[in-house]
Amino acid sequence: MEDKRGPIEVYAEFDPGLRELWQNVDDVARELRELVAVEPTGKPIQIILFRDQGSYLRYLASSIPQARKRRAIFYRNGDVFQVYAYRSRTLTTDLRHEVTHAILHQHLPFLPLWIDEGLAEYLEEPESLRSGSSRTRTARWKARVGWSPSIKSLESIPSAESMNADEYTDSWAMTCMLLNESDASRQALRDYLAMIHKGEAPGPFSKFQKTVESEVFSRSNSYFRKTLIRVSSNSSRP
Ligand SMILES: [Zn+2]
Repeated sequence: MEDKRGPIEVYAEFDPGLRELWQNVDDVARELRELVAVEPTGKPIQIILFRDQGSYLRYLASSIPQARKRRAIFYRNGDVFQVYAYRSRTLTTDLRHEVTHAILHQHLPFLPLWIDEGLAEYLEEPESLRSGSSRTRTARWKARVGWSPSIKSLESIPSAESMNADEYTDSWAMTCMLLNESDASRQALRDYLAMIHKGEAPGPFSKFQKTVESEVFSRSNSYFRKTLIRVSSNSSRP
């Protein structure tokens, strides 16, 4: 089945529940706009959904071999931004994650891997489930024994293929903190992405002036111990 809304098209080998699917796409786009002022450009986004893993793998084996190890993938094909996934219990999560990548890559010529994956991991969970999710509780628990993500290690991740599960979690946690810790921390991330959007190269986030001024890293452990995602992304921030 096929459906289309503006520049976004869906092709599915099964009935994916279009109402809910569009709702999820809209939610991700709205949150990206509200949180970090990132918006789709209007170039085509194609969402291609397979009936099962076998069908997904057969289709992508020759064209996108890196899809083999993953449940879903975002792939840029010239001016067309494609999201591939297959029917499974995690389809909604996978779809939200990859649509986040598609919109980020439309708006920005490049971005650090940890921000790319951090926002995708953050937005893959619907807003209402975030503060009670198992990874939020795990992070709070780990923070009690001294953990907080290290920006230095995140900034030295060489490639997406090399990222391990801990690095995904730390990217998520760091992004989560920047979005919710304070107005200054969120503004640092927004301004950093705005510079990249304008075609400038702001250097590493940790050395970005707004980041340094926010002093957010000096408060990371206490943020994760006490306040992780208590602030809703719906609060009225500029
Ligand atoms: Zn990803």
